[in-house]
Order: sequence, then structure tokens, then C-alpha cells
Amino acid sequence: MLVLEEVNVYYGAIHALKGISLEVNQGEIVTLIGSNGAGKSTCLKTISGLLRPKVGKVMFKGADLASIAPQAIVSQGISQVPEGRRVFANMTVIENLELGAYLRKDKSGIKEDIKRVYDLFPRLFERKAQLSGTLSGGEQQMLAMGRALMSRPQLLLLDEPSMGLAPILVKQIFSIIKEINTTGTTILLVEQNAHMALSIANRAYVLETGKIVLAGDSKQLAASEEVRKAYLGG
Ligand code: ATP
Repeated sequence: MLVLEEVNVYYGAIHALKGISLEVNQGEIVTLIGSNGAGKSTCLKTISGLLRPKVGKVMFKGADLASIAPQAIVSQGISQVPEGRRVFANMTVIENLELGAYLRKDKSGIKEDIKRVYDLFPRLFERKAQLSGTLSGGEQQMLAMGRALMSRPQLLLLDEPSMGLAPILVKQIFSIIKEINTTGTTILLVEQNAHMALSIANRAYVLETGKIVLAGDSKQLAASEEVRKAYLGG
């Protein structure tokens, strides 16, 4: 479904991605783990078209995304939940969700999908008229995910959904990610919480200073000495 071929991305003189090749197949949960500054967010931004590779290709369903605007990439079926759960603070929960569907015109479908988001996140239903800036951190994460789902993505890109959340909420968010995947959405998940990410993903890539240093089945990686030492606290 998604293929990155030898992708190189720069911020000015900083070479942030150094020849990244990876793939995500339809129906999978794939995780990208690695320490601070490894290039995980850069990788997601390159897929969603916010950054462009200087060298290399990003292909989605067989088509090169190089000349496609970020908005059109959303229409093609890729939606990103950015790091730091950026919601529109001065808008209500329901307005944020409606905004996630701004490229769609099927009013009844949009209504159905808002209901689906409320089924996934009952808390958002309870808070639907509340200004989003006054939601708790966890609720804002739920809203950011719900808003991304409103474009009916085939591929959902999640950037550190567990960041800053209490352990019980982390568990809840990860179980919802699993549920979203079960209902047909392919997922690429960036996480610093390698333990949780490996527990729900089919496959994983380990990124270090802009390069993939390990890749494989999540269970095998979680059991490997190298990953346990560096990312799972021994
Ligand atoms: P974290 O887990 O800390 O969010 P990350 O793996 O997502 O890290 P990136 O945010 O992708 O890492 O950053 C990769 C590298 O690119 C880092 O060295 C970072 O300092 C650099 N970088 C990121 N954004 C910019 C920018 N706008 N300008 C210059 N350098 C940047």
C-alpha cells in the first residue's frame, strides 16, 4: 500500500532521513520506533507531503506522491494525527470533527462517521459541545484521532499518541488503535513507547539518526537483545 524507496530528507544542511526504505501493507499495523531525534516525525511528515524527499520516492497504492499537494494526499486516503495533538482550541469538539471531513460532501456519510467516532470515544460524545482547548490532554488526543478518522483514511499515520498520557489512558488509546485497525484502517504508528507499540504492531522498523537499523516482526524484535537493551529498558 505504502512504499518508501531510499528517501532522503533535509532541513537546510541537516540530513534528517538518510535513505529510508520501508513498506506498509494493507491491513497492517506497522510501527516506527527510535529515540529522540531519530527522524520518526520527519518520516510521517514526508509521507503526508508536508516535507518532500530530496532524493527517493514515496509511493501510495502504486502512485508517486511527489507532485501531489498535502490536501490531495488526504483525499487519496492518507490522514495524519500530528504529534502534540493539535486541535482547534476555540472550536467545539463537534466542530473539530466536522473540520476533519472538510474535503467530503456526503452529508449523511459524515453524520455516520461522527457517530462512529463517538462510539470509539464515548468521552467525546459527552463533551461534544465543549471548547476543545478546555479538554484534558487525553481527550485532546482522542479528538485529534477522531478528526483524522473523519476523512475516512485508508492509511492512518499516528505520531506519538501516548505522549504525556497516564498509563491507564495509554492502554485505552492503544486498544482503540487496534480497534480502528480491525475495522479496516491500515496504521503506521510512530512511538517512543516501544513496549506498547511492539505489543500491537505486526511489524516494526527501528530508526536511529535517520537510518533504519533493524526491521522485522514485532514479536521477534521485542524479544531481541538489541531492542530490549536500547528501547525496552533491558
Ligand atoms: P522525537 O521522538 O524527539 O519527536 P523524532 O524521531 O520524531 O524525535 P524528528 O522530529 O523527525 O525526530 O527529527 C529528526 C532530526 O531532524 C532531529 O535531529 C531534529 O533536530 C531535526 N529537525 C526536525 N525538524 C527540524 C526543523 N524544522 N529544522 C531543522 N531541523 C529539524
